Amino acid sequence: MAVLDVVHYGDPILRKKCKSVNEFSNLNKIIDDMFDSMYEAEGIGLAANQVGIDLNLFIIDITHTDETDEPHIFINSSIVSTGSDENMFQEGCLSLPGIALDVKRPETVKLKYQTIKQEWFEEEFSGLLGRAIQHEMDHLNGVFIIDRVGEVEKIQYKTALKELRNNTQNRITSEKQTKGFVL
Ligand SMILES: [Zn+2]
Repeated sequence: MAVLDVVHYGDPILRKKCKSVNEFSNLNKIIDDMFDSMYEAEGIGLAANQVGIDLNLFIIDITHTDETDEPHIFINSSIVSTGSDENMFQEGCLSLPGIALDVKRPETVKLKYQTIKQEWFEEEFSGLLGRAIQHEMDHLNGVFIIDRVGEVEKIQYKTALKELRNNTQNRITSEKQTKGFVL
């Protein structure tokens, strides 16, 4: 088990569409590490690319609000359809620390996904789980909550976003330089 670093806004892996999972044999370790990382960061959902892994995989745990629920693992997911009713809810994001935005999304989402046992399901979700699923699906497609709001809402975070992007780029540059000195 290991806590992985959550990558922030500005890292190119958060702007690309993630690859399908074809190899299931080493997934358990990745998923364990993702749960460790999510709990450490106090998040309720985490997409694989948020810890630098380019795979269509995300996890959600909303048991703090619903004790009858359990932690979820979604693999190779795609949105089949969404309901016509929309609602507004404030979302934060582990890859956008310090930013919270009211995001409008459909109330229900029908998701096709695979389990760790490679079984396929198609299921409709609503409430907080349905919202978290849509947030994580956005990540796997390279979309942030800042892309889901208007310019007026986004402008208040202009400086914060610039700072995040600069910090991420500095981190990537210094990691590259360190790698150059492996002896
Ligand atoms: Zn997020």
